[in-house]
Amino acid sequence: MLYKKFIEFYEKIQGTSKRLDKTYILSKLLKTTEDEDIERVTLLVQGRVFPACDQREIGVAAKMIIKAISNATGYSSNSIENYWRKLGDLGKVAEELTEKKKQSKLFSKELSVRKVFDNLQKLAGVEGKSSVDIKIRIISELLSNASPKEALYIVRTVLSELRVGIGEGTLRDAIVWAFFPKVVGIFVKCPHCKNWVPNSNKCPECGSDLNTNFNDAVKEADGRILRVKEVEEIKNKEIKDYDFIICPDEKTAREVYNYIVNCVQDAYNILTDFALVSVEAKKGILSLKKVTLKPGRPVKVMLAIKVKTLKEGFSTVGKPAQLEYKYDGFRVHIHKWKNHVKVFTRRLEDVTHQFPDIVKAAENINADSFIVDGEAVGYDKRTGKSLPFQRISQRIKRKYDIDRMVNDLPVEVNLFDILFYNGESTLNKPLRERREILERIVKEKKGVIVLSTKLVTSSEKDARNFFNESISHSNEGIMFKNLNAPYKPGARVGYMVKYKQIMETLDLVIVGAEWGEGKRAKWLSSFYVACRDDNENILRIGKVASGLKEKREEGLSYDEVTEMLKPLIIKQQGRYVEVEPKIIVEVAYEEIQKSPEYESGFALRFPRIIRLRDDKPLDEISELNHIRELYENQRNRKTKDN
Ligand code: AMP
Repeated sequence: MLYKKFIEFYEKIQGTSKRLDKTYILSKLLKTTEDEDIERVTLLVQGRVFPACDQREIGVAAKMIIKAISNATGYSSNSIENYWRKLGDLGKVAEELTEKKKQSKLFSKELSVRKVFDNLQKLAGVEGKSSVDIKIRIISELLSNASPKEALYIVRTVLSELRVGIGEGTLRDAIVWAFFPKVVGIFVKCPHCKNWVPNSNKCPECGSDLNTNFNDAVKEADGRILRVKEVEEIKNKEIKDYDFIICPDEKTAREVYNYIVNCVQDAYNILTDFALVSVEAKKGILSLKKVTLKPGRPVKVMLAIKVKTLKEGFSTVGKPAQLEYKYDGFRVHIHKWKNHVKVFTRRLEDVTHQFPDIVKAAENINADSFIVDGEAVGYDKRTGKSLPFQRISQRIKRKYDIDRMVNDLPVEVNLFDILFYNGESTLNKPLRERREILERIVKEKKGVIVLSTKLVTSSEKDARNFFNESISHSNEGIMFKNLNAPYKPGARVGYMVKYKQIMETLDLVIVGAEWGEGKRAKWLSSFYVACRDDNENILRIGKVASGLKEKREEGLSYDEVTEMLKPLIIKQQGRYVEVEPKIIVEVAYEEIQKSPEYESGFALRFPRIIRLRDDKPLDEISELNHIRELYENQRNRKTKDN
């Protein structure tokens, strides 16, 4: 496929905000892609050249791109930086300068998807002394042959700035639409353009109104047709060679369609790479269904829903429920096969190298192969007390001095689930059986590897006591789990829920901000916020970049806050602006941490702006003493059940 053609599709996808239209165009792109390009196209359309679970990174800084644009267009680095400042986006700079260059020199070869993709992948493998020069050369070569539009997309891909716009759900549905028969009723024939399109108000192909009912759609189906009375009939059947599936009614059609969608989603949650899912889906639905866990390849973790009350916890997972301490560490999946052990985080990062202690701890699990799920919690060696996540988070990124880290910041693994055991997936076994397996095969060793503390109960009173007990051990709260549920990788389906202490919000004043990048370039998009001490000093406590909305109608927006701050700007330095402390916002957060980074001595974990506090004067913003108290209380939290 020519890269130019790929971009045409990509632009169409970007050109619409409607998910249905995006999915439709994407499915057409996948359908027209030759087999040999299917992996590349599936990744590129997500703005990637590696799947999320692949540790390799393109590793190219803006400076290198500037040099490459300079090589390809003949403009000096200085003038490119000037353009960058003006346009706020290096992709646009590359586009504009390639356009200008075009008048003097015609670009030679047409770029193919394969060429662009393979070159970008190559970037990640370049190491050593002259790696910067080699990388610049690889990008320059692409840019020299690129049209202005192609230059724009190449630069954005290299800088990982294309990773927006296409969500998992869109890609999943597009795969369904591209590779499986049309379930009649869910798809209808447009009376105007005669294309089969998803049934909605408007035809995504020609824009005309769609008003086709189920029976009319059935009459129009023509080709290889599979007639299905109920969804059970297709559960073990290959369906890919049919053009249409016709069901007796709309309800069954919906069930059949959902079944196909779920097959694709389940495969994705296990493979964690849509490129592989596309390849399997092209082979057929039976191939997709055969996809299974493979120790060594990361798999998505099951996610938890948040509940506000203990009662809601029980009503979500059912009674009796398994309650567990909610540890404040980081999620790990430990994989073992043959003589290998690997450790992955919930973001599918391979952290085996950083955690030789977890690899060793896995020796206490008696099985030939497994994938287990748990939380690694740091603790203080002298007191044995657990440490907040932020104290051990440095171990996740650490590349050197590992032995010292293991010694200074030890972790204890608290296991709570098993996904794969001795060559077989355990995903479909109920939790109570999975837990039994864990209890059988794990030899617990305090400070090394233990099972999560659990309580099976139906009583709210017991749950409250269990919560208090958990908090008194410096944990974050408790989990509720459905004893009969399977393990659903990647899903937030209510098989487990979390119940946490609710943190008091802070009222803080904005003292600085940064201009955004890409599509947020016209707004101030992250904000330095401050509290005060009892001498009226304003002290920074963090940087908030979430909570605001893109559109005014959705709530307090970047645009509004930018307008409020603009007249207050005192100083500007690059992207950073300092503003008069006038705008007060209410900020929620997960935790207060000690931090040398800000004058207050504290920082906020996961802060988000909730609303404007224009009712508050500056001298009523949160006080440092109070924040210190909140920080102390975090360590010995009390129940605040509401
Ligand atoms: P949150 O990070 O607030 O969405 O809460 C869910 C996270 O809690 C999980 O991803 C785990 O990292 C963590 N966690 C701590 N203890 C447990 C437990 N006993 N069972 C499941 N998850 C737990």
